[in-house]
Amino acid sequence: MEETVQDFTGTVDGKGYKASMDDPAKLPMALIPTAILRGIAAALGYGAKKYAPNNWRRGMKYSEVYSALQRHLVAWQDGEELDGESGLSHLDHAACCLAFLREYTATPTLYAAFDDRYRREMVRVVHPADRGSKFCDAPGCNVLVPRPQAYCFTHAKKVLAEIDAARASAR
Ligand SMILES: [Zn+2]
Repeated sequence: MEETVQDFTGTVDGKGYKASMDDPAKLPMALIPTAILRGIAAALGYGAKKYAPNNWRRGMKYSEVYSALQRHLVAWQDGEELDGESGLSHLDHAACCLAFLREYTATPTLYAAFDDRYRREMVRVVHPADRGSKFCDAPGCNVLVPRPQAYCFTHAKKVLAEIDAARASAR
């Protein structure tokens, strides 16, 4: 009797998993290792009891989720397997935090308000040749204007229109 050897790599018949991996409509869900799924479910169950089921879907600041994720990873790196409070694996808690962030970023229209990642402001330096000039006062505008002019042409028009509108509504 011929023995069937399961082909995990898809290299034998050239199809199998490899073929399904090339088809975005056929995500190879069967390839996901299941320990992490059980772990996430356990951590979510703990959270559901502590707060409410799906509480995290109301949104959390990205920085808070990221910090929790890193705290769990660092605790694990320091040799602690289980979270002191829940008794669950630090790695499962970390996976849970990561799943939240992934879900938030997958639906930015719902969660953009929680994205508080630090963004380095663009460093703006006036070239010596442009001494006497400054950048437009409008946030993020990189147009150089001669001092003491505050705004570039575009933003000056906008600001003047706003002032006019404010005056008109005050009357
Ligand atoms: Zn401007």
